[in-house]
Amino acid sequence: LEINLSPMSLNEEEWAGILIVLHDITAVRRLERMRSEFVANVSHELKTPIAAVKGFAETLLAGALNDKETARSFLQIIFDESERLNRLIGDILELSKIESKRIPLQFSPIHLQTFIGNCLHVMNAEAIKKSIDLEMQADETIYIEADEDRLRQILINLLSNGINYTPEGGKVKVKVDSLPGGEDGAENERVRLTISDTGIGIPKKDLPRIFERFYRVDKARSRSSGGTGLGLSIVKHLVELHKGTIRVESEVGMGSKFIIELPIIH
Ligand code: ADP
Repeated sequence: LEINLSPMSLNEEEWAGILIVLHDITAVRRLERMRSEFVANVSHELKTPIAAVKGFAETLLAGALNDKETARSFLQIIFDESERLNRLIGDILELSKIESKRIPLQFSPIHLQTFIGNCLHVMNAEAIKKSIDLEMQADETIYIEADEDRLRQILINLLSNGINYTPEGGKVKVKVDSLPGGEDGAENERVRLTISDTGIGIPKKDLPRIFERFYRVDKARSRSSGGTGLGLSIVKHLVELHKGTIRVESEVGMGSKFIIELPIIH
C-alpha cells in the first residue's frame, strides 16, 4: 500500500484539511513479478536447446566430423533441438498475442461432428504409431458459433496431449453433449466437449497448476515428446476468449479428462 499525504490549504492562513491517497500497488507489483518470472522462464527454456546445438556443433568442429556415424547422430540432435526452438518461439509468440488480445476471433457456424471428425483425422497418423484408438461420441447434430482455427487449435492440442501421455494400445475419446440453457432463458445454450484418455494421468498435487505456462509434471517426459509446456495455457486462453470454461479431472494410472464448456451462440 502506498500512502500519499498532501496538505490542502484554502489560502495562506486557513487549512482545508489533508488529502490522503491510498494506492493499492499489490496488483501492479504482482503483474510485474509475473512478467519477470515469465522472462526468466522463457530464457531458461531457450537456453537448453541452444546449449545443445552449440555443444554438439563445437564437438563436430573439434574433430567428431571425421567419424561419419557420430557426425550423423550429432547433426540429428542439432536438427531436433532447432525444431524444438522453433516450436518454443512459435508458442511463446502465440501466447503473447493471445494474452494481449491482439487476435480478434472470426466467428462462423461450425458443424461439430464434422469438425471433430476432421481433427481426429489429422491426429490419426500420430495415434496409429502408438496403436491408440481415436473415437468420437456425438449423438446429436450440434452447430456452434466459434473461431474455426482457434477451436481446431484447442482440440488438436488436447488430442495431441492425450496421445502423448497415453501408453501404446490406449484410447483417446472426444465426447459431445449439449447443455440446456438456464430455465429463465437468460443463459445461452452451451455445449460440453470432453477429451478423455486412458493414459498415465496427473497427480492430484499437480492438477491446480497444470494450465500454468511452462508447468510440467515430468520435464524429461514432456521434452522427449516434443512438448513446450505452453500447450495447455494456450488452450485455456483460447477457451476463455470464446467465453467458455475448461477443467481437468485425472487419476494417476487411470487417465485424464479435459472438460470444456462453450456457449453455442455468441
Ligand atoms: P507439454 O508441452 O509439456 O505437453 P502442456 O501445457 O500441454 O505442455 O501440458 C502441461 C503438462 O500437463 C504436461 O507436461 C503433462 O505433464 C501434463 N499433461 C497434459 N495433458 C496430459 C494428459 N492428457 N495426461 C497426462 N498428463 C498431461
